[in-house]
Amino acid sequence: MSLIRRRKLTKRQTRQIEQNQTVQADDATFAEGVIVSHFGKQLDVQITNLPTVIPSLPDTDTNKHTDANKPLVQIGTIWRCHARTNLPMLATGDRIKLSLDTTAGLGRIEHLLDRHRLITRPDRYHKVKPVAANVDMLVIVFAPLPKPAVNLIDRYLLIAKLNHITPLLVLNKADLLNEQNSNDQDAIMQMIDEYRALGDQYGFSVIQTSTHTKSGLQTLSRHINGKLSIFAGQSGVGKSSLINELLPNANQSTNIISQNSQLGQHTTTTSRLMPYDAHHVDKGGIIDTPGIREYGIWHLSADDILLGFEELHALAGSCQFRDCHHTPNAKGCALWAAAMQGEVLPRRIESLTSLIDEAKAGQSAVKPSAK
Ligand code: GDP
Ligand code: ZN
Repeated sequence: MSLIRRRKLTKRQTRQIEQNQTVQADDATFAEGVIVSHFGKQLDVQITNLPTVIPSLPDTDTNKHTDANKPLVQIGTIWRCHARTNLPMLATGDRIKLSLDTTAGLGRIEHLLDRHRLITRPDRYHKVKPVAANVDMLVIVFAPLPKPAVNLIDRYLLIAKLNHITPLLVLNKADLLNEQNSNDQDAIMQMIDEYRALGDQYGFSVIQTSTHTKSGLQTLSRHINGKLSIFAGQSGVGKSSLINELLPNANQSTNIISQNSQLGQHTTTTSRLMPYDAHHVDKGGIIDTPGIREYGIWHLSADDILLGFEELHALAGSCQFRDCHHTPNAKGCALWAAAMQGEVLPRRIESLTSLIDEAKAGQSAVKPSAK
């Protein structure tokens, strides 16, 4: 009996919430914006569309135009916000509707607009963490120096695949190619050729850049223009240098973020969207997030990991044993048989098995404590 009553109540509540949300989404005083920073409970939103009815500014306040701490009701300004508690998990890159409290200089996120993608990752405690929303491209940067960790590139290709994001491989520091000894140079050129062949088959590009000679920067721009991208790759390959070239004003845009006394100063940013056009965040940009570096693979099964290795995925069903570990001496392994014929790359199989091993090791490490 009590169960039924509770269910009825829940239905009514749900309907009420839905009604509230529809009314709210149409509210003429709401502005539209994009979440550009996420600090946990606080978020920064850059305004992309003004409300139909501009909220009245606090009158009789003669200082209102000189109060530098309060953001203006203008396209391109950034408002520190709280989010309504009934909203789903929000992430940098999300498009939202917000109400503006012009007296306090604070916003409140009222409604989540259409989202075409949300990258999340589980942490060690099985809590799902948002990485970023609406990301179109994962730019995987590598360089002749530090020497490429092939496994890392394959890992990012897997993350892109699992999240339905187009990868773009960028060999930065291309100027160093001429200076390297010829063995290293041959190895890296071969690696590029191999990824180009994979990319031709599976729909991604491999380009070369140099922030020193500025070569390839326009090509990179063309690939990511108008899109939201995340840059990933080993430390020291030149990600920050590339971002500085693409967004020379990125540091300035952080300064216009309102420092509101009521909500305190900036705490550690979990992620930040740097728009190409400071006043039109909807024209694309780069999201800088530690989430992509912290994207563990321990929660993935061997089958999940195979998805990131499309050329091997098709073959794995033909291994003699269902639980084949695809080690070089595994009996009846179709992957190694294909490698012997030169159809697939041995190092891709090695990448696959090392990622599967890593996931397994992570899983067994987390199980005893997980309840
Ligand atoms: P990040 O750790 O990936 O962000 O790498 P950084 O952008 O901090 O760059 C690491 C080092 O590589 C710095 O000393 C840069 O000056 C250098 N670097 C960046 N781009 C290039 C390049 O195109 N060519 C060369 N030779 N060095 C570069
Ligand atoms: Zn096998």
